[in-house]
Amino acid sequence: MATATASATMADPARSERRRISILGATGSIGRNTLDLVGRNADRYDVVALTANKDAQGLAESAIRHRADIAVVGDPDAYPKLKELLAGTDIEAASGDAALLEAAQRPADWVMAAIMGAAGLRPTLEAVAQGTCVALANKECLVSAGQIFLDAVAVSGAELLPVDSEHSAVFQAIGSSSAQLFEKITLTASGGPFRTWTSDQMSAARPADALKHPNWSMGQKISIDSATLMNKGLELIEAYHMFPVKADQLSIVIHPQSIIHCLVDFVDGSTLAQMSAPDMRTPIAYALGYPHRIEAPTERLDLVQLKSLTFEAPDEKRFPALRLTREALAEGTRATAILNAANEEAVQAFLDGRIGFLSICELVERVLSDPDTARQSEPSSLDDILALDKFGRERALAYMTRFAAP
Ligand code: NDP
Repeated sequence: MATATASATMADPARSERRRISILGATGSIGRNTLDLVGRNADRYDVVALTANKDAQGLAESAIRHRADIAVVGDPDAYPKLKELLAGTDIEAASGDAALLEAAQRPADWVMAAIMGAAGLRPTLEAVAQGTCVALANKECLVSAGQIFLDAVAVSGAELLPVDSEHSAVFQAIGSSSAQLFEKITLTASGGPFRTWTSDQMSAARPADALKHPNWSMGQKISIDSATLMNKGLELIEAYHMFPVKADQLSIVIHPQSIIHCLVDFVDGSTLAQMSAPDMRTPIAYALGYPHRIEAPTERLDLVQLKSLTFEAPDEKRFPALRLTREALAEGTRATAILNAANEEAVQAFLDGRIGFLSICELVERVLSDPDTARQSEPSSLDDILALDKFGRERALAYMTRFAAP
């Protein structure tokens, strides 16, 4: 009773000051989950900028509901609709690449970087350049730009917070421990919708099969990446850049229930795990409230009901993406940037019915083993990264003509 009274009167540090926030990629799965939390904590947050690519309707509705200052669509064709929907409000409407960058530059205390794919790199770097706190959902930034992205963070003094559930879990488990104190980081993977499928079955898989993730509700690209396990490989590269570890200190285990999100092994034999229901609002809430915690309306764990948590080694024969990402990581950012670009093109081709499911990784492997890939230089600037991205896409499209859909 005494404890209850004390906690009721204790000031909630997360409520002590209002924070200005922007969301890049506000109409996507991460963006909508972030806005859900913002709406439930409206006394804590003022929304500055919201962006989308084409979804003018979704963007305008969110901008009005959350009283944003500005709403931006990347695609200029979506602008007339956005402008019309925001007519009569005092919300600015804008479109195009420059407007996306301008939105990312607007003064804000916290920016969610949740644009899908390498398209998010420049807007996220623009937010980073402001020296603000950047919640990084877009793993492709670190996969494509690696140390160049981290250097931009260091130069501006921006604070980078992980949003991916596994990386948020590692961040929480590591706490203030120094790098010498942990031995290994294990990222868990659900195994995706094809965990128990044979290669023959996967060769006939349709986009609708691959989009049926057993545990998580996510955007299309990351859902396909989860089905190939490329997502876990990209996360391994992300973890390599985000935490002070060597590649051989990172491992992956299949955990079909998606309850444990990471394991961190310490030198004294302790292993810390972070657990929560598979709902992105938990890691987003952690980043949104950081360094405090805010409420998230997610399902609470009932271990008795769960009964058992199971684990398996990943099968790199059926899921070659894990090997490909490790090999690319060993080669450096040149290879990871090209891998990311080739994968984005391959995933889109699969979604469009131009190639089969197994061709996604075959295509990525072809591009990575192309002799011209080895001839590209290690990048030292954003322009170099963008050139590698273009090269990876062009090579993927060139090889694609040799892959037919099943
Ligand atoms: P979605 O596809 O659901 O949403 C993507 C968002 O980015 C949308 O707002 C979309 O706008 C916008 N967008 C897409 N392309 C462009 C472009 N070329 N220029 C400007 N904006 C663009 O993706 P998710 O929310 O699932 O994922 C976003 C990022 O977060 C990805 O990097 C993903 O890997 C990462 N992530 C996602 C998780 C999840 O649970 N979904 C978990 C962990 C990480 P529009 O709606 O108009 O197309």
